[in-house]
Amino acid sequence: MRSAPITLNGIGASPGVALGRAYTLDRSRVTFPKFRLPSEEEAQREQMRLKVALELSDLQLAEIKGKVAQGEGGEHALILEAHRLMIKDPLFADEARRLIGEERINAEWAIRRVVKKLKAAFEDIEDDYFRERRADIEFVGDRVLRNLLGHVVDVDPEGDGIPPGCIVVAHDLTPADATVLMRRGQVAGFVTDVGGQTSHTAIVARAREIPGVVGALKGSELIKRGDLVAIDGHRGVVVINPTEEQVLQFQEAIRRHVAAEQSMLRLRDLPTVTADQVRVSLLGNMEFAEQISTLLSHGAEGVGLYRTEFLFLEREVPPTEDEHYLAYKAVLEAMGDRPVTIRTLDLGADKVPRGPGAKKREREPNPALGLRAMRFCLKNKDLFEAQLKGLLRASVHGNLRIMFPLISGLTELREGRASLERAKEELTRAGQPFSSKVPVGIMVETPAAAWAADRLARESDFFSIGTNDLIQYTLAIDRANREVAYLYCPLHIAILRAIRFIVESAKAASIPVAMCGEMAGDPMFSLLLLGMGFDELSMVPSQIPLVKRVIRNSTSEDGRKLLEQAVRLTTAEEIERFVRSEMLSRFGELLTQA
Ligand code: PEP
Ligand code: MG
Repeated sequence: MRSAPITLNGIGASPGVALGRAYTLDRSRVTFPKFRLPSEEEAQREQMRLKVALELSDLQLAEIKGKVAQGEGGEHALILEAHRLMIKDPLFADEARRLIGEERINAEWAIRRVVKKLKAAFEDIEDDYFRERRADIEFVGDRVLRNLLGHVVDVDPEGDGIPPGCIVVAHDLTPADATVLMRRGQVAGFVTDVGGQTSHTAIVARAREIPGVVGALKGSELIKRGDLVAIDGHRGVVVINPTEEQVLQFQEAIRRHVAAEQSMLRLRDLPTVTADQVRVSLLGNMEFAEQISTLLSHGAEGVGLYRTEFLFLEREVPPTEDEHYLAYKAVLEAMGDRPVTIRTLDLGADKVPRGPGAKKREREPNPALGLRAMRFCLKNKDLFEAQLKGLLRASVHGNLRIMFPLISGLTELREGRASLERAKEELTRAGQPFSSKVPVGIMVETPAAAWAADRLARESDFFSIGTNDLIQYTLAIDRANREVAYLYCPLHIAILRAIRFIVESAKAASIPVAMCGEMAGDPMFSLLLLGMGFDELSMVPSQIPLVKRVIRNSTSEDGRKLLEQAVRLTTAEEIERFVRSEMLSRFGELLTQA
């Protein structure tokens, strides 16, 4: 008899729809014995057992890393390398060895205690990113434990008989699992019980364009191997044993998705130009080098925002100048002569790196108003100038633009430029080549920068509006707080006025103006932004085709009229209702697909 369908609501981690048979992976916590060692010799033998397990774990990770490095993209390799470093870290290996020697406990117990202690160090940090980095410690500990116990450690899609087109279901997936499993075309989708949108598995899945749902709670308990499972990675929905009608609906959604992909490909090389020949460049936002192929396949004309702080979040020690150089060189080379806008570090607030600094910043009473982005960089000049030198050196490999985040006044911009000059002098002394013509622009994302935009424009080579922060700071609502999310209104009259003033200031100073906040990628706002007169819009690559369609089917005059009518209204609800109804009447079918 057919089982009744069960619907789970998780978190959409990677968009797309998939339907397939479940392939469950046992990634449940390992159980192990705990006992005291009777003698010194026993302890030494146990330490030897640990050494072998640690070496084996390192070898396994090196092997997976080798496969990745030859194949697809460096970001996974970096994650795996971070795990290898953890295995060798004195806080991990030496501490476990010490526990065995001094407390005479068995190796499995020692590993579990070390993992617990290391995780506790992150426990108090109220931050999604860190919660997920605690998972990394767990992954490494789990690998060593499994090796100690002689359990199967890694999935091997070829050897393990994972059927192509299946939906992988697990309590959690390690980055190593995710890397191996999610080679393009291997699996149709995945579901995990835990994890968030910034978990590595989600990042890998998005980069590979494999639909996935994380945080599906008891998914791995409820789903049995071979069950038919349908997932919607956009809405975070998982249906176990869907009814025939649901299967048809999912199949139809997959068909629409494939058709949309195909029409996207047709659109990819067409310019983004309005019916009255106004050109708007559409660029992509990125955090990891891996995303470049997605950017290009969606027709991005360049990178409008590279959030480089993600290079830092993975690690205890900041990247060296050489590491910066290599990371940026790779992106610039991959993008050819397309513009690549690299934002200097936006650390602080919700993006806190590992290491001792994490604890210090955690004590800030208002991190979003604290030592973040440029303020952080100007207080940590060594870190900042290492990045600037890396950027300058990379500038000879492509079309680089440097962008300073969260500028709140001209002094910060000048100080940033002074650091850049110092970096140039040092490189000149060292005989290192760099391009002398790298444009230096700013993100306009504080109300202070918005209302000083006319003055800032005199000393900036370009502007890019960061609406995520501009809205947060203008409307005084924490962008990460669900309680006030309902107040987060891009169409608030204060926001529209601020954006208008910024664009006008840029035009008056004849510098290009872009938008790279989420607002730029919402097709509902495209006509309005066209009316504002943006030169560039930068967004998550998957939004580019839709925004392109709206713009290609509009005139700049349509945009200006819509904007004029919108700013005559007052409340955010009125403006939103008006814009939505206008857009739906013009582009109904297109927008309802979005
Ligand atoms: C923004 O604030 O709009 C932006 C693009 O930067 P981030 O989201 O990285 O703060
Ligand atoms: Mg920002």
